[in-house]
Amino acid sequence: TEVVLEADGLTKHFPVRRGVRDLLTRERKVVHAVDDIRLTLRRGRVTALVGESGSGKSTVARLLAQLYGRTSGDIRLHGDSVTVKGGRKFRAYCRRVQMIFQDPFASLNPTHTVRYHLTRALKIHGRSGDTAAELEANLRDLLLRVQLTPPERYLDKFPHELSGGQRQRVSIARALGADPEALLADEPVSMLDVSIRLGVLNLLRDLKERLNLAILYITHDIASARYFADETLVMYAGRMVEGGDSETVTQNPAHPYTRLLIESAPDPDRLDRVGDLQPPEERGTGEPPSLIAPPTGCRFHPRCVHAMPKCSTDLPPRFELPANDDSNRGHWAACWLYEEGAAK
Ligand code: SF4
Ligand code: MG
Repeated sequence: TEVVLEADGLTKHFPVRRGVRDLLTRERKVVHAVDDIRLTLRRGRVTALVGESGSGKSTVARLLAQLYGRTSGDIRLHGDSVTVKGGRKFRAYCRRVQMIFQDPFASLNPTHTVRYHLTRALKIHGRSGDTAAELEANLRDLLLRVQLTPPERYLDKFPHELSGGQRQRVSIARALGADPEALLADEPVSMLDVSIRLGVLNLLRDLKERLNLAILYITHDIASARYFADETLVMYAGRMVEGGDSETVTQNPAHPYTRLLIESAPDPDRLDRVGDLQPPEERGTGEPPSLIAPPTGCRFHPRCVHAMPKCSTDLPPRFELPANDDSNRGHWAACWLYEEGAAK
């Protein structure tokens, strides 16, 4: 299917604090928020980006949304690099690639109604229509798309008069006001009640199908990636460590970190046994590393039960994993275990 958005070598380092320099080298310290991110979003597909908090996944979304400048790397929309901030190409990009945030309460202005938020989005993107009647029809259409019906019931409400799920639907409607090709959804359901999460994910899936959208779904919940995403990418400590179709990555994970993530995810069928379970053998130990001085080589090596000598010195590239049919083609892992000839 058609590629909408591509990122290549996307890197973002933040200065820690002005003037803080390493005592020995006199170098200014930086946080390696994300390093060398490569991903592709396709029409009508959901790509999940999974990782723990602090893994850099939100930074990736913000870089793709052009909310801050990158340290290096390339972002392409339909093959065309977007480099200069401002200008026609940049504005077109910002219309076609819309972001949905984790906290719909924070992203909506509490002093303005739903009507105000959606009208503004339509106006900014030149889609408000020529007459008041056209505008009204476009507003109704946006609310119908996110299943807030009847629209009249919601148009003149303030954010605090809506439930969390309704607010997130308004945020999605606002994003749709730009008539985007790609949505970047940063933990869109993690602040919502468990009982309504599925409804919002199903809405996004429905929009993906009806509007042929490319969706980046950012989450710490790998189980939801399996349910919702076509493709899954896993991040650890600012780097991507595994990727492939969601079924393969979640059912047959290759990278030791992905296995750890899956094993530590709560299993709804086994909640009664939590606490009885022995830590599985595959399970790594310890905490995610500091991104000011990330581990050399494979960033997971201090926690990895399979670590070999070279893991602490050499950065593992992406190794393609063998496919047995079309469904698991494109599965890869950045891990020395999959180097040709490595003992597994
Ligand atoms: Fe573990 Fe080495 Fe693979 Fe990293 S490269 S995950 S340390 S085996
Ligand atoms: Mg985040």
